[in-house]
Amino acid sequence: MTLPSENSAKKTVTNTAIKIENLNKWYGDHHVLKEVSLDIFEGEIMVICGPSGSGKSTLIRSLNHLEEYQEGVVSVFDQPLSRDSQSHKVIHQTMGMVFQNFNLFPHLTVLQNCALGLMWLRKMSEREAEKRVMGLLDRVGIANLASRYPGQLSGGQQQRVAISRSLAMEPKIMLFDEPTSALDPEMVKEVLDVMVDLAKTGMTMVCVTHEMEFARQVADRVVFMTDGEIVEVGPPEQVLVHPQWDRTKEFLQHVL
Ligand code: ADP
Ligand code: MG
Repeated sequence: MTLPSENSAKKTVTNTAIKIENLNKWYGDHHVLKEVSLDIFEGEIMVICGPSGSGKSTLIRSLNHLEEYQEGVVSVFDQPLSRDSQSHKVIHQTMGMVFQNFNLFPHLTVLQNCALGLMWLRKMSEREAEKRVMGLLDRVGIANLASRYPGQLSGGQQQRVAISRSLAMEPKIMLFDEPTSALDPEMVKEVLDVMVDLAKTGMTMVCVTHEMEFARQVADRVVFMTDGEIVEVGPPEQVLVHPQWDRTKEFLQHVL
């Protein structure tokens, strides 16, 4: 297996974008996040992988408070988040998220889906919002689909709309929860290509994905989770090629 050698040396450590400290979450008596601590640096591409049910979605959704947790602290650019309106403001201003199932509004066009947040949350004029969105749609290669409805698009196209919609808000951090898992195999690449391009722009990215080729190509670090715990974290060559834990080795045999 060959690895791009520049990966780990690509960036020097800068500010912490997200600091996760001793996060614990239970669903009833099911302990789903166990003392999870992790620093994600500005500009870093972090890939989170691990078996189904290991807590990856719960963790990434805790970062922008889509999930509540009982113990621990998540800070974004040194601001500890809570349930107050100031925290929600920080989240809205700094973080975008892309889900497995696109979550587009079916009754709005591509352009309207992407412009909505800019007009409602940022109070931008329709004209200004549409101008910004058209630039983004062009960047992800779907400007020609602006007046279509989500139902008239392939899964790969819908996911590129969802990414454009997030990027329109000019986030500093992008969270991806298995963005290619619901796609037919032939559409995976068109979405990964957009993510690879985004990674090159210096965006901080946290990506739950089983696309190990993507991890090898662009991740600065890979986290391996199992049973609510982070069991390995390190550069892709360390975690993917020389994993310390038997569970990681076993998992990689299935996905590689
Ligand atoms: P992953 O994304 O790694 O597949 P999840 O974070 O979705 O894992 O789930 C972690 C664990 O929490 C699983 O055992 C799952 O069944 C459980 N879980 C997730 N959501 C809920 C919920 N709303 N209520 C109860 N248990 C849940
Ligand atoms: Mg999940």
